[in-house]
Amino acid sequence: MSRLPRLIRSTVLPTLFLLAAETMTYAQAPADAAREVIFDHEQRIRPLEIAAGRAWWDANVTGADEAFKLKEETENKLDAVLGDRERFAKLKELDQTKLKDPLLARQIHILYLQALPKQVDPDLLKQMVARGNAIEKRFGVFRAKVEGKELPDSEVRKILKQSRDTDQRRAVWEASKQVGREVEQELRTLVELRNKAARELDFADYHAMQLEINEQSQDQVVRLFDDLDKLTRGPFQAAKREIDAHLAEMYKIGVDELQPWHYHDPYFQEAPAIYKTSLDAAYAKADIPELCRKFYAGIGLPIDDVLKRSDLYEKPGKNPHAFCTDIDREGDVRVLANIVPNEYWTGTMLHELGHSVYSSKNIPAKLPYVVRTDAHILATEGVAMMFERFSKSADWLEQMGLSVEDPAAFDEVGEKMRRNKLLIFSRWCQVMLRFEKGLYHDPAQDLNKLWWDLVEQYQLIKRPEGRDAPDYASKIHIVVAPAYYHNYMMGELFACQVNHAIARDVLKTAEAKNASYVGRKDVGKFMKERVFAPGRTLTWNELTKFATGQELNPKAFAADFSAE
Ligand SMILES: [Zn+2]
Repeated sequence: MSRLPRLIRSTVLPTLFLLAAETMTYAQAPADAAREVIFDHEQRIRPLEIAAGRAWWDANVTGADEAFKLKEETENKLDAVLGDRERFAKLKELDQTKLKDPLLARQIHILYLQALPKQVDPDLLKQMVARGNAIEKRFGVFRAKVEGKELPDSEVRKILKQSRDTDQRRAVWEASKQVGREVEQELRTLVELRNKAARELDFADYHAMQLEINEQSQDQVVRLFDDLDKLTRGPFQAAKREIDAHLAEMYKIGVDELQPWHYHDPYFQEAPAIYKTSLDAAYAKADIPELCRKFYAGIGLPIDDVLKRSDLYEKPGKNPHAFCTDIDREGDVRVLANIVPNEYWTGTMLHELGHSVYSSKNIPAKLPYVVRTDAHILATEGVAMMFERFSKSADWLEQMGLSVEDPAAFDEVGEKMRRNKLLIFSRWCQVMLRFEKGLYHDPAQDLNKLWWDLVEQYQLIKRPEGRDAPDYASKIHIVVAPAYYHNYMMGELFACQVNHAIARDVLKTAEAKNASYVGRKDVGKFMKERVFAPGRTLTWNELTKFATGQELNPKAFAADFSAE
């Protein structure tokens, strides 16, 4: 392609025509050329990124057609600039030049990876954006319908958590999966488009490409997941036996009669509340945003401004899930949530606000725009999950001034739920990673079967007899955050590893698993200095080593649940 001659020219010219370089822009020193590309990025692309962030926020809060249209238009503009062939050629050339200044080299590499997936045919890109947005919108407005009545997402979760009526559970579970049928065909088309784009860029498929542009490889990630599988299979089987016995008793059925709708979560990605003590009672009267505000202020990472900008409660048309977004990398950080006073939403708020502290709020303003963000999605998910776990601790609640009726029972249950949660989540992530890998590797295969085969193998949940439905397509992450889910699991490993480092270096305790951060401003200091400060100047594994002394590994994770 036309990129090769450019490359040769750039490596030869600076040495041959060094003296004449002042008047020849194409012969400038690589460092100057890099600075120019970065400056241009901050001038042209940064405003578009900010506008896209705002439009995305509005679209999710209102569900309004105009907001979605604006979001799509802004994204298309951004794609057009990032897709600029000449700009990309310059980035590629500079990325292959050994720039002496590591900060310049890092920024160029990040910009190169950002622009790489946009080098496909602009029409194809537009189709992908349009298709993705259309499906996302369907998810946003979808409500499970049971006997003519529409149920918000929180109601679906409540029934699956509380109902003892198997017929009702089944009806609600099936209704919640209906969105899969609604988006199945569009999702399949989107997958084909994504694969076409990946092949244009010489990747085997879209999954392989997504990992590469996120500085990971399929081999590396699958190896890690194979290790995790070995590490978690035995303990998971034991925990699942206990769970199944409880559930069978709860519904007055045999263990072998248990169906997916008996597991309290539409995907069995969360631990069922099988114990007599419910964690929800402690939160029934809690002011969840205020609780979180006090906690984060106490550890020296205040979030008052985030809460002020956030949209926290259910309303029609609004995205029923939760997320955090850093709009401008200058402190405009917001959370979207649909809070109901229970343990789930407390954990979710602690999670989203965990993202919010690992943002331009605490990443030094002196870092250039390009690296003034989290090191990697797995690192920010890790930080979020590290804080999320406190909602299951009676110690935490009591230290935060909330009364727990029976703290010993709460803790025993919380402890078991935490263990179950880690194990269940690790198995669920196995399904997601391997399904998405299979989905993009061979989209023509029987995907309904692939999904349920994996669910049976890794989650040990039997498919309902005769069920042949696109249940994978009801999981919104497959549409809006493709080939991303494995990062949650790697984030969990990161969370455990950072928590162990905090226990060791800050709290000076061997009890990492139950370490409390309440009122410890030195925890916030550690997070700022060892986790947030580098921004994206380091890769995810470099950051892990910088923060904890070791590369990412499952030792801390294993220690947290095998000590039971
Ligand atoms: Zn998250």
